[in-house]
Amino acid sequence: MQRLRDLALEVLNEYQLLSQEFGSYQKIAGLNCVEGCGACCNNPQVEASVLEMLPLALHLFDTGKAEAYLQQMQDGGGFACHLFQRHSLDGIKGACTVYEWRPGICRMFGVAGYRTKTDQPTLSVCATIKASKPHKFADALIAMSTSAPPMLSHGRQRIAKIDYALGEKLMPINEALVAALEKVLTQAAYSALDDGNVAA
Ligand code: SF4
Ligand code: SF4
Repeated sequence: MQRLRDLALEVLNEYQLLSQEFGSYQKIAGLNCVEGCGACCNNPQVEASVLEMLPLALHLFDTGKAEAYLQQMQDGGGFACHLFQRHSLDGIKGACTVYEWRPGICRMFGVAGYRTKTDQPTLSVCATIKASKPHKFADALIAMSTSAPPMLSHGRQRIAKIDYALGEKLMPINEALVAALEKVLTQAAYSALDDGNVAA
């Protein structure tokens, strides 16, 4: 279990850096999220790795909620990220219920650099931000040569390299959380067994 906790700590440290880098670029470019928007969370195809969900899975375990979450997620469908709370019927408005523990992609998605098929750096901005701030988007594109945005792929790599076995494969976010919860619960069961053997 200690190995999972050490990994989760490393992931959280990387998350802090990523949030600072992507958040400050977003702020300086004036491309902040639209208040109350949750459109990107209203989608079960957001992709994350098991490693990205590990800090949350351990937090749920430590607060006694891991089994309940796992059960709900195995029972439930999945028209959105399971961690999203809708504030409007269509799910366009809403909020993350685990903001502090959200995975890496959720810290980078709104505004990030990426490379085109011809390897040109460009800027990816979510459709909602683009529509609400078209001039800021145009300014950011023009300023790219002097003020390069942080790259999504680099952020992904920095997380994955903490543990390639758990960090490289991406899957729909709900599946990634189920896998992380199963890993934590299995490891906890083994640890309890080991402790019992030692005590015996
Ligand atoms: S973890 Fe939170 S921020 Fe990320 S998709 Fe789910 S609800 Fe949205
Ligand atoms: S990234 Fe875009 S879709 Fe997601 S919350 Fe921000 S404004 Fe809304």
